[in-house]
Amino acid sequence: MNTIKHHIGDDTLMAYVNGTLTETISVVVATHLALCPECRKNMQLMEDIAALYLLDSEPSDVISTPPSVDMLEQEDPSADLSFASEYVDKGVPAPLASQLPVHLEDIPWKKLIPGVSHYPLSVSNGSRKKGVLRLLKISPGTPIPEHSHTGQEITMILKGSYIDELGRFQFGDIADLDSAITHQPVADTDKDCICLIATDAPLKFSGFFSKLLQPLVGI
Ligand SMILES: [Zn+2]
Repeated sequence: MNTIKHHIGDDTLMAYVNGTLTETISVVVATHLALCPECRKNMQLMEDIAALYLLDSEPSDVISTPPSVDMLEQEDPSADLSFASEYVDKGVPAPLASQLPVHLEDIPWKKLIPGVSHYPLSVSNGSRKKGVLRLLKISPGTPIPEHSHTGQEITMILKGSYIDELGRFQFGDIADLDSAITHQPVADTDKDCICLIATDAPLKFSGFFSKLLQPLVGI
């Protein structure tokens, strides 16, 4: 059953296909793709278009025809199942599991402020390392200080749910935000909300919390 309502933005997915995303954000995108047939299909379409574009740009007599909708529909109907079966390791989808030192249940959380803990994840490959990848745990009813972004922030829900100005976000949902958005997520059930968050530039906290939080979070 697919209950995912919030998906990866087209710009982000295209950057993922082109290999131009920072590694931190790529981890979140790959983790969502492992769960979401809709975004995988979207990505397939982008890859097909990119391939056609490359063909068209080569000097050649070959006439390329775009794939018909039928062709795309027929493509690899078993792919969904194979991706779903990867949802096994350490309580998280495989692309994220490789980043976790322990099972999600055993994460040694570090307290940021009352009701909010985090766990920074290191990303291998220093050459493209930029931005921050972390797990965030929000206690029920706790608001995250309102903030905006100097760059991109992408969040995926792993457990629980939260609500902000954009709607309700539950397991598998993606919040793909750019610098135009200021938001204040609140964990809205009786369970902790655990998210995977990647940024490619520091966050900007507005108002009271900024001096308190900025040096602690380091983002
Ligand atoms: Zn999706």
